[in-house]
Amino acid sequence: MTQSVAIIGAGLAGAVCARALADAGHAVTVFEKSGGTGGRLSTRRNEAGSFDHGAQYLTARGAPMRALLDELAEKGAAAPWVPEGKDRAGDWHVGLPGMSGLVKPLLDGIDVRLRTPVDAIGLDAQGHVRLTDAEGRDYRFGRVVVTAPAPQAMALTLPLDPVFEALDAIVYAPCWAGMFALDEPAADLPDVLRGDDDGPAALIVRNSSKPGRAGETFIVHGGGAWSARHLESEPDLIVPRLLGALEHGAARRLSPVHAVAHRWRYARVDRALGEDHLMSDCGRIIVCGDGLVGGRAEAAAHSGWAAAAAILDRQAPPCGGYTI
Ligand SMILES: Cc1cc2nc3c(=O)[nH]c(=O)nc-3n(C[C@H](O)[C@H](O)[C@H](O)COP(=O)(O)OP(=O)(O)OC[C@H]3O[C@@H](n4cnc5c(N)ncnc54)[C@H](O)[C@@H]3O)c2cc1C
Repeated sequence: MTQSVAIIGAGLAGAVCARALADAGHAVTVFEKSGGTGGRLSTRRNEAGSFDHGAQYLTARGAPMRALLDELAEKGAAAPWVPEGKDRAGDWHVGLPGMSGLVKPLLDGIDVRLRTPVDAIGLDAQGHVRLTDAEGRDYRFGRVVVTAPAPQAMALTLPLDPVFEALDAIVYAPCWAGMFALDEPAADLPDVLRGDDDGPAALIVRNSSKPGRAGETFIVHGGGAWSARHLESEPDLIVPRLLGALEHGAARRLSPVHAVAHRWRYARVDRALGEDHLMSDCGRIIVCGDGLVGGRAEAAAHSGWAAAAAILDRQAPPCGGYTI
């Protein structure tokens, strides 16, 4: 029997879940609050170039992720990346033309509603899930999968079932991300340079060294501890600190033609829940995402697949109990 499923969030967890459910013949609608898909696999484009200001590269420890990356590569949405300064084992993969390109083939043919934040979830007397968006529009579905970072997922789901209180155990580190474009090469910098978590440059990446990117562009990720200390600072105050770290790496002053900072409040998972998904007692509300499993994109994919499997294996029982 075809189920109607709403998915909140068009990041990797939402995209793999949506694909698995759509391939099994279910009617899937994805609600995404931002103007693009990818979530923290994100790419910002402007006249200065393209900037992957979230995840830098993906790795695959397990066979499902390896198969997904192979499939995305065949579709022209992923490619290997072997940067100068590669310092960690395993194959590194990036999205094409940017990191956000990784989810595009997964969402192909699926109804994705961009700029549609879901503000509330309810359950009506007939046992349908009711979503209300920021404009006050209501939608009805058989089930909903929430993939937002845990604090946001908890705000949406805890009023409906105490099981979602478990999300409170998930801890994220924030990250300030700097995006810089130069009009001349910074030849002394390798493509990848790591610093420490307590400083403004835990990771410096020459974004333009990834396949398909042009120009001379850099991403600077502030360390988790450093970003936490400066979380509420204005971006204008953060840019010079991140630029200073880039200049330190380049061993000279730089005059970027583009310099912007983005605050990731929930960037990397410091402590995961240790369950691949959570489901309400009535089976109609499911929460998944990297926070449940671990701090990498592969964890997000694993959780998204687990949520889809739970839906495919389990027919939702009648949902009495909650009426909003
Ligand atoms: C700076 C940074 C560096 C990273 N580096 C790496 C790396 O090198 N390698 C790696 O493997 N991983 C890395 N990660 C982690 C990786 O990006 C995440 O694990 C993964 O992308 C999380 O996917 P997700 O689908 O669980 O969540 P998300 O990508 O956060 O997706 C959730 C989506 O839900 C949307 N949303 C939230 N609330 C609502 C709402 N109410 N209504 C509608 N939509 C909503 C959000 O806009 C978002 O698009 C990094 C992350 C960051 C931020």
